[in-house]
Amino acid sequence: MINNMIDNFGRRINYLRLSVTDRCNLRCRYCMPPGGVSLIAHEEILSYEEMSRLVSVAGQCGINKLRITGGEPLVRRGIIDLVQMLVKIKRLDDLGLTTNGVRLAELAKDLYKAGLRRTNISLDTLSADKYRWITRNAGLSRVWSGIDEALRLGFYSVKLNVVVIGGFNDDELLSFARLTFKYPLEIRFIEFMPFHKNHLWNYKRHVSAQDMRGRINVYEKLIPQHRTNKTKIAVDYKLLGGLGMVSFISPFSSGFCSSCNRLRLTADGYLRNCLFSNQELDIKTPLRCGENDAELATFFHKAVNRKPPGHGLTLRSIQPAGRAMYAIGG
Ligand code: SAM
Ligand code: SF4
Repeated sequence: MINNMIDNFGRRINYLRLSVTDRCNLRCRYCMPPGGVSLIAHEEILSYEEMSRLVSVAGQCGINKLRITGGEPLVRRGIIDLVQMLVKIKRLDDLGLTTNGVRLAELAKDLYKAGLRRTNISLDTLSADKYRWITRNAGLSRVWSGIDEALRLGFYSVKLNVVVIGGFNDDELLSFARLTFKYPLEIRFIEFMPFHKNHLWNYKRHVSAQDMRGRINVYEKLIPQHRTNKTKIAVDYKLLGGLGMVSFISPFSSGFCSSCNRLRLTADGYLRNCLFSNQELDIKTPLRCGENDAELATFFHKAVNRKPPGHGLTLRSIQPAGRAMYAIGG
């Protein structure tokens, strides 16, 4: 029997973000500390069988939407096998992947064959030099090959995640938005968030979604779109004559937390009920101790019951010490 999970604030929790690794082939300045990262020991990371079992239990609890993330999911060996396992889980009807795109060109075909149809690709700049700076890595052209390949294969949702950072890429808003004239992409502008160990953060670098819209509107008219079945997490627009969409994700404006439908499962087996909270529930220990599905399901319910009403952050506060973004699963 499927139990829908409704939290104490009336939100239906049906979306799980599954981090499959804390490893990454980039070192984005806003995500990874400059002095290197301490990685989780391999034996602590859940196997694909363990992940798949937990996702199946989550499905029994009412999770029908899943996103694979990380770290960088495409650096974990055998990721295609995981996708094949996940698409077989009956109650999941929406499977997506968030990737930095570096390995997408080589893996897109197999991911598609395995059943993946949605991918979000993180790309914060269209300039090769700025890309090298922000990711501490070269290879913007590889990301573009991945985007082209995903579109060519017919993925029905290809989104670009752009974290907007004042003084770094806020001069590229229009260029990103105008990509939708050429490509059927959804460009998602995301407000920069203050994470612990995020050495680039400074509240002055924050650009609000409202400010972003204003800057684009000077040159191109943004036409509001009302999509059904959508939470209020993204607000959507189209440019006149555009093929794709332009969306704004603003964790700091009202509405974001009130429609949050998410849980997160870290690569080392902890359930997190809010990106900005350090409350974690260890589900790996009971899993490895051989608990049955019903017992494991209680952990999902517990996480939902403890879900806070909102992140409570202000621009001048910072996510408390704990995991950095690459280790949570963004
Ligand atoms: N490596 C993959 C990628 O980059 O797409 C998946 C994991 S990454 C942590 C997930 C998303 O979190 C990316 O789109 C990244 O840009 C975003 N992110 C990381 N740190 C952030 C921050 N401080 N504020 C806003 N978004 C952030
Ligand atoms: Fe890696 Fe993604 Fe973090 Fe960049 S944002 S360092 S690609 S995990």
